[in-house]
Amino acid sequence: MNHVDTMAAPTATSDRATPEETEKLIADVEAYCEEIRPLEEICYLEHQPNPAIRELGQKHGLLGMPLPKRYGGRGVDSHTYAQMLARINREGTGVRTFFSGQTSIGQYPILKYGTEEQKNRYLPASCRGDCTLAFGLTEPDAGSNPLEGTCTWRLENGKYVLNGVKYLISNGSIADAVIVFAFPEGSEGPDRRMSAFICDTEGDSFEAEALHAKPGMYTSDTAMFEMTEHAISGDNMLGGEGNGFRIAMHTLVSGRLSVASGCLGTIEDCLAECLRYSKEREQHGKPIGKHQLVQQHIARIEMMRATSDAMIERAAIAKEISDDAPGDKEKLAHADFVVSEAKYWASNAAWEAVDRAVQVFGGRGWSELYRPFRHLQDVRVCRIYEGTDEIMQLKIASTLLGKGYAAFG
Ligand SMILES: Cc1cc2nc3c(=O)[nH]c(=O)nc-3n(C[C@H](O)[C@H](O)[C@H](O)COP(=O)(O)OP(=O)(O)OC[C@H]3O[C@@H](n4cnc5c(N)ncnc54)[C@H](O)[C@@H]3O)c2cc1C
Repeated sequence: MNHVDTMAAPTATSDRATPEETEKLIADVEAYCEEIRPLEEICYLEHQPNPAIRELGQKHGLLGMPLPKRYGGRGVDSHTYAQMLARINREGTGVRTFFSGQTSIGQYPILKYGTEEQKNRYLPASCRGDCTLAFGLTEPDAGSNPLEGTCTWRLENGKYVLNGVKYLISNGSIADAVIVFAFPEGSEGPDRRMSAFICDTEGDSFEAEALHAKPGMYTSDTAMFEMTEHAISGDNMLGGEGNGFRIAMHTLVSGRLSVASGCLGTIEDCLAECLRYSKEREQHGKPIGKHQLVQQHIARIEMMRATSDAMIERAAIAKEISDDAPGDKEKLAHADFVVSEAKYWASNAAWEAVDRAVQVFGGRGWSELYRPFRHLQDVRVCRIYEGTDEIMQLKIASTLLGKGYAAFG
């Protein structure tokens, strides 16, 4: 077991939610969703950011749902957290994406790879709502292959100095700290190994800009930022020098499960909307729900829901087993595989579901005033971020084919 593995201790029983505490969290998420819906609707129609996504998350204590109670989290298991993300995503993929940035890919790598001091510095503050987090891997010229990144670091006078640009980062312009990945300045060949940092964003040397040219998720933050001689604490390297790629890939297992879970929420909301609308709307002398071709859409959406739900449960269980066995490479590889399957399936299932829901709504379906079209605009990105459809397929096939068949490396 190396330096990195020893840090990620399994969660102690006292850190986990009791059944009563889990019930309370479920109720809190429901209250959050009911409170945010009207606010989200206004912001979405105005194409404006919705600050209540974070503020109400803070109010209802949702900013660290699966984190151990010792660090201020609610201590729920991976499957409960996945269900909570699905519920939140019924309110919009943008709403859920904030939580993915904060918890699934923000807090998670600190929990798994941080020193005790780093965990104590960042996790309770982020659970309280005093520290918004983000995950900065993608760069303008490095997306599917992060090893082509050009962000750099050097150690100078006891501080890490970061340079470079990160692109398309969820929560990137509202974050107080970003998990940033960078290569040693001037390195080549085998020395060119990526490291991870907890990068505090304060100061003029960190310049962030929200990206508005996007066809959905208007209410949540997608940003780029530039670090110019940006000096951070010498205590803020995460998980040991040269371990950045491994940390990024492990974190994406958590992130991809959050995306899959969100997609399930999209499907659930589309199904609920279609069931309601097809009973209300009448054409040809009867509710459209009595037309067999409309029923076909509903049946397909339900199949997308049921299959995604099953795959997400299986993936969440595999992730929980892996989380409880730090350093067990086989369990992590299995979790990585089934999470990739769930992400690939659920994001495509959601795309089919939103398209069918738009169809059931007819002309009203092609309007931001109605929920199906808002979901359609938002959910398409789930087949792209945190690993594209193509990368998911390559991972799935090459795992089945075995050693030597990696289609990219
Ligand atoms: C709204 C939004 C939020 C995001 N949030 C974050 C975030 O919080 N943090 C973060 O780090 N990143 C984030 N991203 C970035 C996202 O993860 C990347 O966009 C994604 O990984 C794809 O990278 P790319 O855009 O550079 O596309 P590219 O990698 O350039 O891919 C272009 C096309 O080529 C295909 N392709 C690439 N390589 C191969 C291959 N070997 N074989 C077959 N096909 C291939 C891809 O599948 C894709 O179809 C976000 C993106 C968006 C749009």
